[in-house]
Amino acid sequence: MRLSRYFLPVLKETPAEAQIASHRLMLRAGMIRQQAAGIYSWLPLGYKVLKKIETIVHEEQQRAGHIPLLMPTLQSADLWRESGRYDDYGEEMLRITDRHGRDMLYGPTNEEMITDIFRSYVKSYKDLPLTLYHIQWKFRDEIRPRFGVMRGREFYMKDGYNFDLTKEDALHAYNRHLVSYLRTYERMGLQAIPMRADGGPIGGDYTHEFLVLAETGESEVFYDSEITDLKFGSREIDYDSVEQCQAVLEEFTSRYARTDETHDEAVFAEVPEERRRSARGIEVGQIFYFGTKYSEAMGANVQGPDGKPVPVHMGSHGIGVSRLLGAIIEASHDDKGIIWPEGVTPFHVGIVNLKQGDEEADAACESLYKSFEALGLDPLYDDRNERAGGKFATMDLIGLPWRITVGPRGLKNGVVELTCRRTGESEELSPVDAVEKVA
Ligand code: ATP
Ligand code: MG
Ligand code: MG
Ligand code: MG
Repeated sequence: MRLSRYFLPVLKETPAEAQIASHRLMLRAGMIRQQAAGIYSWLPLGYKVLKKIETIVHEEQQRAGHIPLLMPTLQSADLWRESGRYDDYGEEMLRITDRHGRDMLYGPTNEEMITDIFRSYVKSYKDLPLTLYHIQWKFRDEIRPRFGVMRGREFYMKDGYNFDLTKEDALHAYNRHLVSYLRTYERMGLQAIPMRADGGPIGGDYTHEFLVLAETGESEVFYDSEITDLKFGSREIDYDSVEQCQAVLEEFTSRYARTDETHDEAVFAEVPEERRRSARGIEVGQIFYFGTKYSEAMGANVQGPDGKPVPVHMGSHGIGVSRLLGAIIEASHDDKGIIWPEGVTPFHVGIVNLKQGDEEADAACESLYKSFEALGLDPLYDDRNERAGGKFATMDLIGLPWRITVGPRGLKNGVVELTCRRTGESEELSPVDAVEKVA
C-alpha cells in the first residue's frame, strides 16, 4: 500500500476522552471511530488488524477440529423464552420489536440459537462429538462502555459450542479449547493466563477465564508467579488425544490463578509468599462446561447407544476478538505509539522515502516495495511529500515491526537504514540485505 493512496486519518492531538493507552493509540492511529457510546467504525488500519486476529482465531479453531458457521446478529426472543434467559438476562440485552410487533434481540451470545440448530438436525450419538463456532458481532448494552473496543457495546466475538454424549467427552472438548486458546493468544504475541472463574449468567461449574496481565485491566487477579513462566510454544498436540489435552490443562491450571470472584485467601496462603502476586488483568476469553442446562431446557436430545434419548452435554467458549486489539496494544506500546507483534501487524514493514521526487530515492523505494510484494509481504510505503520527522512519527505511531529509511545520501553509499520498532536499533544495509533481514 502507498500511503498517498491509503486512508489513514492519524490524529496529532491526544483525544481527551480516552483514558487508557490502547484507546488513545487506536484513535490517534486512525484505527477506529466512535459512532455512539461503545459502537465503533473500524477504519482501514483497525479493520486490517481485526481481520488478522480473526484469521488466527479461525486457523486455531479449525486446527482443533472445530467447524465454522455463521449465525445472524438478530435473534427471535422465542428461543430465549425456551431457555428462560429472555427474562433473566436483564438490561444488557438490547431488545427490538419488528414491524409485526414480534420480540427480537441483538444477540449477546448464541447458546439458544446453536442448540436450536443442533436439535433440528442431529439425532444420534453417532454424529457426536461436534463443535460448531462462529465469529460474529455481539451486542451487550453495557452500563459503562469504556476504554474503546475493550468494553464496547457492539463487539466482535468468537463463540464456539461443543455437543457431546457424556460429561467425560464434553470435558475433553473443554480441554481442547483450553489448548487451542493458549496457542491462539501466543500467536498474537500475548501471554493469556487461564484462571479459575465464576459461572456467571451462562452458568456452569467448570470455567476458566484467560487474562492478559495489565495495569489497566478491569479484573482483579491473584496468582502464583510461577505461572508466568509457562509457555505453550511450538509443541505439537494431537487434539483427539484425551491424555495430551488433559496434560496441558493440568500443566497450565495446577498453580494458583484466580479472579477475584473465586479468590480464596486460605488457599492462596499456601503459595510461598515470594510467589504470591495480586495484579490486574484483561479478560480476553472464557471457556465453560455447563452440562445439560440448555439441552434439557430446549430438548436437544440424541439417541444413545441403547436407543434411549439423552440430552447432550455442552459447553461454550468465547474469545473477545475486538477486545484483543486493545489488549495487545496495552501489552505492547511505548510513548511513541503501538508496537505490533509480528503475528498481527497490519503491514510487515514501512518504507520511508526521505526525498520524494528524487529519482534515485523514488526508484530504490519502488524496488524495495516490489521485492516485499514478491515475497508475499505487505509493505506500507510512505510516498507522501512530507518532512522526515512527520513520516517517522506516523510510522512509530502505527507500530510496524520494521522501518526502512531511504534517502539520497545513503544511496550514494549503497545503503538504506533498517530500524526495528521494538528495540529502536538501526543499522545501515544494502537494500537486498535489508529485505532479507525483514523477510
Ligand atoms: P466481562 O467480564 O469483561 O464483562 P464477560 O465475562 O461478560 O466479559 P463473556 O460472556 O465471557 O464476557 O464473553 C467472551 C469474551 O468476549 C470475553 O472474555 C471478552 O474477551 C469479550 N467481551 C465480553 N464483553 C465485551 C465487551 N463489552 N466488549 C468487548 N469484548 C467483550
Ligand atoms: Mg460482561
Ligand atoms: Mg467476565
Ligand atoms: Mg467471561
